[in-house]
Formats: sequence, structure tokens, C-alpha cells
Amino acid sequence: MATPETLLELCAVSHEYGNGGTERERVLQDVTLCIAEHDVVALLGPSGCGKSTLVRIMAGLIAPTGGEVRYRGQKLAGVSPGVAMVFQNFALFPWLTVRENILLPVGSLPEAEQKARLDALLATVNLGAYEHSFPRELSGGMKQRVGIARALIASPEVLCMDEPFSALDVLTAETLRNEIGRLLADPHHPLRTMVLVTHNIEEAVYFATRVVVLAAHPGRVEVVVPVDLPYPRNPDSPAFQAIVANLHAILTRTALPDTTADAGKVVTQKDGARRRIAPVSLPPVNPGEVLGLLSHLEDGERDVFELAERFGKEFAAVVRVVKAGELLGLLETPGQDVRLTALGRELLAGSTDRQREIIREQLKRLKIFELLLRLIGVQPDKQLPEEDLLRELQALLPHEKPRPQFRTLLNWGRYAELISYHQRKRLITAYTRKSPRPGASPSG
Ligand code: ADP
Repeated sequence: MATPETLLELCAVSHEYGNGGTERERVLQDVTLCIAEHDVVALLGPSGCGKSTLVRIMAGLIAPTGGEVRYRGQKLAGVSPGVAMVFQNFALFPWLTVRENILLPVGSLPEAEQKARLDALLATVNLGAYEHSFPRELSGGMKQRVGIARALIASPEVLCMDEPFSALDVLTAETLRNEIGRLLADPHHPLRTMVLVTHNIEEAVYFATRVVVLAAHPGRVEVVVPVDLPYPRNPDSPAFQAIVANLHAILTRTALPDTTADAGKVVTQKDGARRRIAPVSLPPVNPGEVLGLLSHLEDGERDVFELAERFGKEFAAVVRVVKAGELLGLLETPGQDVRLTALGRELLAGSTDRQREIIREQLKRLKIFELLLRLIGVQPDKQLPEEDLLRELQALLPHEKPRPQFRTLLNWGRYAELISYHQRKRLITAYTRKSPRPGASPSG
């Protein structure tokens, strides 16, 4: 039973997207979350783990394919009455003025009431002078102020924000973040409950009473970290930084689990059932990216977050490269650090041919490559049709799209001179010296 002040409940929510054909991708699995008044929940997790989908399900913009959403104890059907959304890309109507955009959700209220709410909000979000401007005349920060005002005008009980500051420059983001923080802390303002999607750990700790860390493929709750710090929060304080460091470690562990070496093994589950650990797919990166990363580790270990900053890449993108290097036994990830293994060092010191040879041997040890080579071997003419491989990949890795994995396998297999791809006939064969040299990118 929900307590009286529980607002939003997700009960074992799952979601699958279709692609118009027979393929379905399970994006969320069994997510159970309860949001009560005064909760500020930050959803944190790698790109693609389903954060945006989850927040849209909370707002009733997407109906989940499994489980149930309740609002104040009632099963939700359609858009949620008490929830408003702020989007990363503002989602304003370009042909409407600032005033018209903001008033959209309350068009059915009496005009005097609309005007009273609008005037109060224009002052709150500092938009007064722009009431009659069009979105194209505004900076990114001003557009997001309109987005926030439009969300607040219906006096929602829960404000859902999907990466609201990530399209803004650093200073504008900082200002808006502080303003939202002030609204939440203001006892006279009705906004007190918020769900925030973010990939920025400090932003999560700045706002949240609870940080929900999601793991990917399929998206699920990995861990919930309470943040028990008084507002306004000081990001430079040791207590704040300790929570940030803990979340760094959790996110790294979530994105880089230490289980890949077990792929293919049969394990016995708690209930006694035996199941085979699915073969692990190869992250969608190419050999050049992994070799590039290795060369940055030559003079010692590095933190994943530091690497992301140094390359100017998103954390998730660096994690994909790290994961590929780890799967191939070229690097290891103690905690949130990344360092070369002995084999990684040998590869770095080797000639191009030796590098290719090392990667070839390592690929052959991967379950997914072992299966690919076996599949080629059992074909009567040792030629594996592309569509057969795609079908196998779909069965082996039901939570992934087969075509990106196909392209990745092709890239690595051709680089390592393990396989060849005959583009015109769409056939994969084992590599022989007579086969065309690898190099051209696969069409996929
Ligand atoms: P996040 O916000 O954590 O990056 P998303 O919820 O945007 O994750 O996406 C989760 C997964 O669902 C991704 O693999 C994405 O490609 C897929 N996805 C998102 N929206 C759609 C859609 N409308 N149709 C099909 N797949 C989608």
C-alpha cells in the first residue's frame, strides 16, 4: 500500500522498442521505484541505459510494455496529471511566442488565471522582457527558461527534467542549476519533487536526495545512493566530494563489470537452475581506437574519468573502448583505474604484424568469435551468408541490435586476418592469403 504522500510509483516496469520489423529491443527491465513528495531523484547511468525512456514513462508520454505506473495510487493511463517535463532540446514551438509557448499547458484555464500565473512565472525565471519574442530570437539558456516555465505553469507536483542543462554552455548551465536549486529550497514555491536525468555526477549530488544508478542492456536499477546533505550544497565540501567519489566508483563498476571472463560458462543460480552466461558482444569500437587508448597508458595507469576528459569524449564512449581492450586481455581495470596488462605492453612494443597476431589470438578466445568461426566451419562450402549470421547474433544477444555487432565483428575479424567479407555476395569466409586483403570498411 502506498503511503499518503507517495506520488509516483513504478512497479516492475519494463519496456521494449520495436523497429517496425520483428526485432524488439528490451530497454528497461523490472524497474521498481517509488517517488514521494520532497524526493529529488537523479537518474544516472551510461548512455543508452534507458534514462530518457524511464522519465518519459513517469510522465506518461510512453506507456511501458510491462509493469505498471501509478500516480497517487491510481494506475496511470496516458499523460500524468501531476507531472511536467523539461527536455534537453527545449522542445519549443518555433511559430509561437515565448508567452504562447508557456501558456500551452493551461489553455483551458480562465484568461485572468492564465495571466496571473504567467506574470508570476516570467518573474521567477527572469523572462519578463522576452514575453513576445520568438524562440529563434533567444539564446539556449533563455530557451530553456521558457521550457522550465512551460513545465511549471500547470503547478506540477513532480518536475521531470531530461538532461536540462547539457545543451547549454557551462556558465549558463551553472546559473540555471542554481536557480532551480533555489526554487526547490524555497518553502513558498510549490515545486518540491523532482526527477532529473543526468550524466553529470556532480549535478546529481548537487540536487538529489537519492541517486538511482542504472545499469544497461537492459536498463535496470543497479544501486540507489541516498544523499543526506543539507541544502544549499557546496560542491567543494569534503562530504560532497566523498559522495561524488563513491558514485564514480559505482558507475565504473557498473559500466566495467568483472564478469566478462566467465562468458560461455554454465553457472548454477540461487534457485538451482543452471544457465549459460551469454557470450559477451564486442563493444562497437574499432581496433584503431583500442590501440590509441593503449598508447596513452604506456607511462602508467589512468582514471577512466580523467581519460574521458583528456580525449574530450563522453564517459560512455571511453568505457566502450576500455571494455574492448579488457575483453581482449590488453588492459585491466582495478577500481576506476585503467592500466596495461603484460600482453598490452607486449602489443605496444611489437611490429604491426605482431600486433595483428596478438589481436588475432585474443579474438579467437572470445566466445563470440569462436562461435562465428564455428558457424563458418559448418557451412557446406565454408561460406556463411550475412543474413544467417545476423539471425544467429539476434538469438545469441537478444538485448542488442544485431547489425552494429555484425559490423564490429567484421571490422575486428578483417583487421586480424581471421575472416573475409565478400560484399557483393554478402558472404563471410575464413581468411586465407588468397582472400582480398582486409582494409575496406564493411558495408553492413
Ligand atoms: P539514455 O537516456 O539512458 O541514453 P534512452 O532511453 O534514450 O537511454 O535509450 C535507451 C535505448 O533505447 C537506446 O538503445 C536507444 O537507442 C533506444 N531507443 C530510444 N528511443 C527509441 C525509440 N523511439 N525507438 C527505438 N529505440 C529507441
